[in-house]
Amino acid sequence: MKELLGGKGANLAEMNLIGVPVPPGFTITTDCCTIYNQIGKDKVIELIKSQVTEAMKNVESTMKMGFGSKENPLLVSVRSGARVSMPGMMDTVLNLGMNDEAVEAIAAKSGNARFAWDSYRRFVQMYGDVVLGMKPESKEDIDPFEEIMEEVKEAKGVESDTDLDVADLKELVIKFKAAVKKVTGHDFPVDPWEQLWGAVCAVFDSWQNPRANYYRAMNQIPEEWGTAVNVQAMVFGNMGQNSATGVAFTRDAATGENIFTGEYLINAQGEDVVAGVRTPQQITKEGSLRWAVLAGVSEEERATKFPSLEEAMPSAYNDLNATQEKLETYFKDMQDLEFTIQDGKLWMLQTRNGKRTAAAMVKIAMDMVKEGRIDEKTAILRQEPNKLDELLHPVFDKKAIKAANVLAKGLPASPGAATGQIVFHADEAAKFPISILVRIETSPEDLEGMDIAKGILTAKGGMTSHAAVVARGMGKCCVSGAGDCKIDGKARTLTVKGITLKEGDWISLNGSTGEVYEGKIATIDPELSGDFGAIMELADKYRTIDVRTNAETERDCLVARKFGAQGIGLCRTEHMFFEGERLMRMREMILADDEAGRRVALAKLLPIQRQDFTDVFTAMAGLPVTVRLLDPPLHEFVPHEEANQKEMAKEMGISIEKIKQKVEDLHEFNPMLGHRGCRLGNTYPEITEMQARAIIEAAMDLKAKGIKTLPEIMIPLVGTVKELKLQEEIVRSVADIVFAERGDKIDYMVGTMIEIPRAALIADEIAEVAEFFSFGTNDLTQMTLGYSRDDAGKFLPIYLQKGILKTDPFQVLDQRGVGQLVEMGIQKGRSTKPKLKVGICGEHGGEPSSVEFCVRAGMNYVSCSPFRVPIARLAAAQAALR
Ligand code: PEP
Ligand code: MG
Repeated sequence: MKELLGGKGANLAEMNLIGVPVPPGFTITTDCCTIYNQIGKDKVIELIKSQVTEAMKNVESTMKMGFGSKENPLLVSVRSGARVSMPGMMDTVLNLGMNDEAVEAIAAKSGNARFAWDSYRRFVQMYGDVVLGMKPESKEDIDPFEEIMEEVKEAKGVESDTDLDVADLKELVIKFKAAVKKVTGHDFPVDPWEQLWGAVCAVFDSWQNPRANYYRAMNQIPEEWGTAVNVQAMVFGNMGQNSATGVAFTRDAATGENIFTGEYLINAQGEDVVAGVRTPQQITKEGSLRWAVLAGVSEEERATKFPSLEEAMPSAYNDLNATQEKLETYFKDMQDLEFTIQDGKLWMLQTRNGKRTAAAMVKIAMDMVKEGRIDEKTAILRQEPNKLDELLHPVFDKKAIKAANVLAKGLPASPGAATGQIVFHADEAAKFPISILVRIETSPEDLEGMDIAKGILTAKGGMTSHAAVVARGMGKCCVSGAGDCKIDGKARTLTVKGITLKEGDWISLNGSTGEVYEGKIATIDPELSGDFGAIMELADKYRTIDVRTNAETERDCLVARKFGAQGIGLCRTEHMFFEGERLMRMREMILADDEAGRRVALAKLLPIQRQDFTDVFTAMAGLPVTVRLLDPPLHEFVPHEEANQKEMAKEMGISIEKIKQKVEDLHEFNPMLGHRGCRLGNTYPEITEMQARAIIEAAMDLKAKGIKTLPEIMIPLVGTVKELKLQEEIVRSVADIVFAERGDKIDYMVGTMIEIPRAALIADEIAEVAEFFSFGTNDLTQMTLGYSRDDAGKFLPIYLQKGILKTDPFQVLDQRGVGQLVEMGIQKGRSTKPKLKVGICGEHGGEPSSVEFCVRAGMNYVSCSPFRVPIARLAAAQAALR
């Protein structure tokens, strides 16, 4: 159903079927959008006209009203609705069908002329913006309608829209229409059918607008899906004091707590709640009391000015409460609802599975398992692995936060801690490496900047404001509605408590409490406990492959183990030589004239390496550790700067000219395909000897202390069997020497990386020597696609934008291409050694869709960076269950 009707259309139909009050309407399918994009507007209208006319007749007869009738006009809403929800990304038109005759009839029928004219002016404005393209494109342009509105309010001396009377609203309609004529050259369309087709096509067009495109790219939603169009009879929340509109969640979308939450406004239309223009009120009394504490509002003020729906309209509230329970029970998931109360009667406009934070995602699933609503497998499959990232990020250090100065308090719109430099415009979010976007409120145009920023602070807007909803969807820390913050976007200042902060100043946000702090605040690592721990245990119960980590420091090993890593899949030994004394010794070795010179440097490196391995093995406490022998593209270590060259000259007792000459000699045109990997060990076997000795000696030292180790020695960048064989022989002979020296033995394995296409092609031969395979999909991708890992950044973004590639192949495994080599490698390897242990250690090892592929391909484990370990555990469980 969702594929054709879109999420919104399908759920409206289902609500109707289970007896929830839904305004009558119909849905134009997503297929029509796709056809629209192929054959164009006129032909599509031709194609669906008779069905749409027929469907409208049904709505007319149910409502006992006429679309275009002069006496009893039916107004409709026209809304987008893709297969998956894309909140705020596409367009909506409300009050369609309105014209000079309809407005009089509606005024007479409702006995509320203000309502009728307010609906009319909103319609002209929305239609002008959405269908006639009058919405400003950049922040410098002024919305013509807003400009007129400001003029009229100023002339009248009022501040709020609600202070305008019928005469003012009539004046607005006239001026709005004149603006339309001026900008478009055409009169505002008065014929409801012309209006309808205009709106339907505008919704189709909005599928391709830049923010929708960006959202799709960000969430990997295929372009061919298209959007459905929902046409529904209007119900009005702005018909007077007995009408209201709101949005609600059946559970708390930020924390996951099982309480009904939401916001509403009396005498308002839907967009007023999310636009953050008026302060929305809470739906439940409990929520209202909590809100008042956070907002610093007294009980007296709360009860008189901001009462909950439960208090203000008890009967409608009871209906809503019963409906939310019914919907959650029916859909078996937390629902995000939109509703309108027209003259005391409740109408549901939408229900969908609510967007939620990672904390809420985990808690809701575990709670629903406990409540018997869903089973364990469903709970696992409902998790979005990438979203767990939110729970894995640091929180503020408790000591640091105590000492920090609280600047303001807003609403805890999306949890987490963020610290960064202030930017005031979304398109400037990348100005600093770590930025916090500070706005009065956000709009869908700000999406990209919100994505880049580490956190979002808004002065206006509630828990369901655009900023709050989008930030939660992105898992980004957000504090909304911090009303004390005076933000001047033009001057680029934020003033609060007499302090003025400028662009580039540091602030910190706590999205879980709503607090805004001055300055940069230290953070600490998160814990894997509570519901998060529980869902991880469930994942472990169902997953069929191991999850290891890529790590080479003690700290990373410990973090990864805390996150559940079952070993190290890749210890990159060259990363152990990036700084200080070690870097000097490494350079000394690289720059040495001959083997004797290299051996001098290697002898100095040996104890350092041995200690490194001792630390890693100890931290991993007997779990398997794959140590990869040196694989440095040499240029990463060669001293290129004069100062460093001088230092090396002094160190080695040779002239700087000589050093310069060496550097020149070592120059490679394409270092990634140059003297690296096992080519190094095969040209300078003494390097392999030193590393093998360091590994074996560390393991023997630990054995002597009663600590178990499981070293797996891995030879990188192998493309021929002989390359591997020669290295393997060195490793084994060194091991035998050490065993003889010590009169003892340990178990170890020698295996290889499969990261050169040729290695995958001859994997059956390679498996005769290798005891395990680890797919290095970074290099395998580089060499299969022929994209340099170092230079692809120049063209990949454009390739993605043009749709040449759907995803970045260095992040998401190219299953169609590189995947074939992986499958072939495994199959050929196991044709020689049926029990061959196979894993992956490229970046893809922590990417959910790639992890799924690895499970299907029959690998024994995936290995990824420490912070991605829980994500991989979950993705592996999902793969096993799908
Ligand atoms: C790989 O190529 O996938 C790999 C893990 O090795 P590196 O990234 O160190 O080249
Ligand atoms: Mg590699």
